[in-house]
Amino acid sequence: MSLPDKVAVVGAGTMGNGIAQVFASHGVSTVLCDVSSASVERGLAAIAASLDRFVKKEKITEADKAQILGRLSPSTDIAEAVQGVGLMVEAVFEDVGVKRDIFAKADEAAPAQAILASNTSSISITTLGAATKRASQVIGMHFMNPVPLMKLVEVIRGQDTSDETTATVMSASEALGKIPVEAQDYPGFISNRVLMPMINEAAFCLMEGVSTREGIDEIMKLGMNHPMGPLTLADFIGLDVCVNILDVLKDGLGDDKYRACPLLRRMVAAGHLGRKTGRGFYDYSSSR
Ligand code: NAD
Repeated sequence: MSLPDKVAVVGAGTMGNGIAQVFASHGVSTVLCDVSSASVERGLAAIAASLDRFVKKEKITEADKAQILGRLSPSTDIAEAVQGVGLMVEAVFEDVGVKRDIFAKADEAAPAQAILASNTSSISITTLGAATKRASQVIGMHFMNPVPLMKLVEVIRGQDTSDETTATVMSASEALGKIPVEAQDYPGFISNRVLMPMINEAAFCLMEGVSTREGIDEIMKLGMNHPMGPLTLADFIGLDVCVNILDVLKDGLGDDKYRACPLLRRMVAAGHLGRKTGRGFYDYSSSR
């Protein structure tokens, strides 16, 4: 198999709607599932708006857009959503209890051969596999934001994920036009284990007055050829998300070197979470 005929994407937020768009754009019948019709509708509207941008850039035609939208169907029930699928990709809140519940329900209702994948940034794939009776078919498919544009899929093997499941997901990712790279199931995998300490160190540098926010970002941008500085990136990701992932790294790896910078925690406590609240390391109130 390169791509299954049908997939279910559970969670229609930022990542879920992007993932559903990519599958539907590659000819796959895609069920988009969330807790309420309103959330699914918001997800479908985001997909339509994203496809409009592709039409404007002449990457796809209006007819392509209509076909892609025609491959998407809404659901508010996981058991119904996974009927007849070859693959489920879960992209709900980063909460282990909510995710385990979804994996247990999907395991009950999905076809026996279906693969159950999670887009989690930091939760153990092994823990999600243990919520099912098919741990060999549970895997991480960590897409990057924005999903339609970003090439990487970090493919995470849990303790019991089989070679066959991994090979299937690697080839499905390639068929979506992505570049899959394998990682083992340790806290933060590769992407966040390497990224978050850099963001954290940038916050420490700011807290200690080593440079200004602009100075820190410019040095990393120009000196390391990064497309944006670490503080700007942290504002994009959400400072609360950064602190959560740092806590996962510190607890899971048992090493204080991952402790979140007190300035990051103080900003989260103040509600300055980054772009989504209009204020983080930078002020976005005029661009909202
Ligand atoms: P989001 O808050 O935008 O969307 C989450 C969605 O899940 C919401 O629409 C919510 O209604 C839905 N949901 C919650 N419980 C549900 C349930 N029981 N059944 C169905 N739907 C449910 O979140 P997001 O940013 O899209 O993140 C989703 C996942 O992707 C998280 O695990 C996150 O760590 C991961 N991730 C996020 C990014 C990012 O940049 N945002 C990048 C990579 C991975």
